[in-house]
Amino acid sequence: MGHASIRFNVGEFREILGLDFAQFNISLIAAGENPDVDPERHRTQHIAEHEIGIINALRNALRERLANTKMRPLYAARISDLGPRELVRVKCACGHTELLTAAMLATAGVVPERKVLDLGARMRCRECDERGRAVVSVRWGR
Ligand SMILES: [Zn+2]
Repeated sequence: MGHASIRFNVGEFREILGLDFAQFNISLIAAGENPDVDPERHRTQHIAEHEIGIINALRNALRERLANTKMRPLYAARISDLGPRELVRVKCACGHTELLTAAMLATAGVVPERKVLDLGARMRCRECDERGRAVVSVRWGR
C-alpha cells in the first residue's frame, strides 16, 4: 500500500481507533502537541497546523492496534481473518448493498482462504442478477 495513496483525516482515524478524547489527547501528546482541551473550537486550526505529526501519531497507534488484532489491510484480508463482529459490505453497481458476516459467507460455501476482495467479482447481485459488479469493503469490529 503506497504511502501517498492513503488519505485519512483525523475524524476517520478516530472512527477507526474508536478513540475518545482522552485517548485522542494522548495521541496529540505523542505527536509533540499540547492536549486538545477545547476540541470543538481549536480542532480545525490545530489539525491544519499539525496534521503531519498528528497523522503520524495516529498511524503509529493504529499500527499498534493492528499488531494486537487479526485486522489486516483489506487487500490482504481473507475470510478467515474476519471475526464475529466484522461485517463485509458488498455494494453492487446498481446500488444494492448487503452486509455479510463470516458465518453467513461460510454458510454460502465461501472457503476461509478466499480473499475478501475477491468476493466482489464472484458474487451475484440479488437485485439486478449481475455478477462481478460489486465493490467490497469491511466494517471492522471494535
Ligand atoms: Zn446489482
